[in-house]
Amino acid sequence: MSLRLAIQKSGRLSEKSLELIAECDIKIDQGKRKLIGVSNDYPLEILYLRDDDIPQYVADGVADIGIVGENEVMEKDKNVKIVKRLGFSKCRLSLAIPKDEDYQGVEWFNGKRIATSYPHILKNFLNEKGIKADIEEISGSVEIAPSIGLAEGIFDIVSSGSTLVSNRLKEVEIVMQSEAMIISSKNLSAEKQALLDGLLFRIQTVQESKGNKYILLNAPNDKLPEIIKLLPGMKSPTILPLHLEGWSSIHTVINEKEFWGIIDKLKTHGAEGILVIPIEKMIK
Ligand code: ATP
Ligand code: MG
Repeated sequence: MSLRLAIQKSGRLSEKSLELIAECDIKIDQGKRKLIGVSNDYPLEILYLRDDDIPQYVADGVADIGIVGENEVMEKDKNVKIVKRLGFSKCRLSLAIPKDEDYQGVEWFNGKRIATSYPHILKNFLNEKGIKADIEEISGSVEIAPSIGLAEGIFDIVSSGSTLVSNRLKEVEIVMQSEAMIISSKNLSAEKQALLDGLLFRIQTVQESKGNKYILLNAPNDKLPEIIKLLPGMKSPTILPLHLEGWSSIHTVINEKEFWGIIDKLKTHGAEGILVIPIEKMIK
């Protein structure tokens, strides 16, 4: 028995999804037609699908779990469980209008036509705001709808905003933020749940290791208390005596983000020979 994971076949989520699996030390043998992949090191099967179909496959139990954008999860509104946010493929769903329009508030959309590939999310938003607008559902190239006269406004994915700018549009309402997430079927068997928990543990480990470095440095013994205060580590730093009398070597874990902030302080406290080494896995 294996856990069946649905990921996007090709598109913005594919590479990161495969990278996540690879970082968990799970190798996938890709089938010739690349519809299904199997792993030999973990009871995992991969189904390659269009991202739109992933929530449905997971809700139906054809796939046990899936990696998909929150935007698709909300739009499809299927009976699935959100298991873990993954922090990649971040974007937002926003309303945008031609840039020269005078926009005072969401009432602007009353009586207007809005082109989108996300009618369900848009309808909920408009209802909540009490706006009556026509939704023109199209499956792609939403951003050109105003210039070809299909709609007055659009509701679409925005990340940097450059697509809007090049189509002379401006973002006027952010409706939701999105990122990739793992969803699961609501009735996983106990065995499959255990496989999922195992996978989640690996993902957690990979994510916690990211950005953490192993740091070693030498310091005079009388400066140890100040230096240790700067370097909390996992539990507490390891201190080993150097052969040279009066000196110690300190080993600990530090996050890259903190590193440049404390390096000067370490040096003013007499630290020398500072080595920073990558960590492959870190289990708390
Ligand atoms: P498919 O052919 O599988 O239906 P698609 O064209 O619908 O693919 P993509 O453009 O590959 O979808 O985007 C997949 C997901 O990636 C989106 O649903 C969204 O969650 C996220 N995404 C889309 N655009 C961006 C972006 N510019 N930056 C970051 N994430 C994005
Ligand atoms: Mg799609």
